Amino acid sequence: MKAITNFTCNNKCSNCGNCCIPWLPITKTEYKNIKSYIKKHNIKPIPLQDGNNFYLDCCFHNRFEHKCNIYSVRPAVCRAFRCDLPEEKIQKNKEHFNQRAYYNKIVPDTIRNLKPMDLLFYGDYTCLLMLIMRDVKPKNMKDLVDFLNKTNNEELIELINKGIVKLEWSDD
Ligand code: SF4
Ligand code: SF4
Repeated sequence: MKAITNFTCNNKCSNCGNCCIPWLPITKTEYKNIKSYIKKHNIKPIPLQDGNNFYLDCCFHNRFEHKCNIYSVRPAVCRAFRCDLPEEKIQKNKEHFNQRAYYNKIVPDTIRNLKPMDLLFYGDYTCLLMLIMRDVKPKNMKDLVDFLNKTNNEELIELINKGIVKLEWSDD
């Protein structure tokens, strides 16, 4: 089991955001709540790129203000996580939330059930490219460019809806 670093300060979450990863297990209800919240409050994704730096954290992690931009509707997995919990509890939580999340086939089986937040909410094509690389398996760059030239944004979304990614709700 990989050791988790304790980033808390005086027994309190320091809001460092080190646990705010871009792929989370979420349920259908959480998905709906977050979607309506970001629409109502016109919340935009935090850009991954910042000057020469590139961040791979959750698109709702506001690293400028050290807060979660969807705090009141953040998924249960985020509410339950504390980096100062015993390792066994963290692992148990992880299994629990992965099981109750809604299933998709975006990533290999070992870490399935994780959802790229930005792909769902903003149609981030970085994630789409990851999917294409995995599922179309272009042999070289020309293959990839040819594939992309043959398609357009709407078709890419169609791929998600119909083929490459099969969405199946398995919880509430
Ligand atoms: S729970 Fe997350 S945000 Fe809070 S201190 Fe630990 S790693 Fe940082
Ligand atoms: S939803 Fe909020 S608390 Fe959860 S990973 Fe994203 S920024 Fe962190």
